[in-house]
Amino acid sequence: SELVIGLTGGIASGKTTVSDRFASFGIDIIDADVIARDVVAKDTPGLMAIIEQFGEDILTSNLDLDRQKLRRIVFSDNTQKEWLNALLHPLIRQQMELQTNHAKSPYCILSVPLLVENKLNNMVDRTLVVDIDEATQLKRAMARDNSEPGVIESIIASQASRTDRLAIADDIILNHGDLDWLNTQVKDLHQMYLNILNKTL
Ligand code: ATP
Repeated sequence: SELVIGLTGGIASGKTTVSDRFASFGIDIIDADVIARDVVAKDTPGLMAIIEQFGEDILTSNLDLDRQKLRRIVFSDNTQKEWLNALLHPLIRQQMELQTNHAKSPYCILSVPLLVENKLNNMVDRTLVVDIDEATQLKRAMARDNSEPGVIESIIASQASRTDRLAIADDIILNHGDLDWLNTQVKDLHQMYLNILNKTL
């Protein structure tokens, strides 16, 4: 696509709800979380490199990557964490570029939960932030994940702040209201993105 919209927001802010809505208008959605899994799937160069670094013990009995084990290792070892990021970030970036270039819809949505944290806003033409107050965020995350408030609160604290996200936003969806309001905002943005494309033709 000619226009790449980076979609981001904190845990349970509504990114999936928003991207499902854009998809219903025929817009291609590229999901960074899916890409992050794909680059270490079976028989990929990514997984080969990880096996070389950590040994065959890093695999499950099905020969898939044991993510939990890998997470435990890099959590307690900064050198290994940096090694892993140096391997994965370029692979993920490359796939993002490939898939946004190949997207067939007039514009496409690149959904990146950690767009702000990983400073990936330079990869997109516009950044769309789903903004939500912490009380609503906590309530929806707890309802969805069946988690304790403390667990969700610590995830929120580990992510970029609302202010950091809003500082780089070109467009904002406010998601403290009902789904009808959310859908109206998506519809308006969809029209605006099409207008931007028409003006640049
Ligand atoms: P994550 O990144 O944590 O997976 P997300 O940003 O993709 O989350 P969603 O899964 O879209 O967020 O939304 C979180 C939860 O809140 C879901 O259960 C969703 O159905 C609900 N939700 C989202 N928007 C609204 C809304 N406007 N009103 C009521 N519920 C909502």
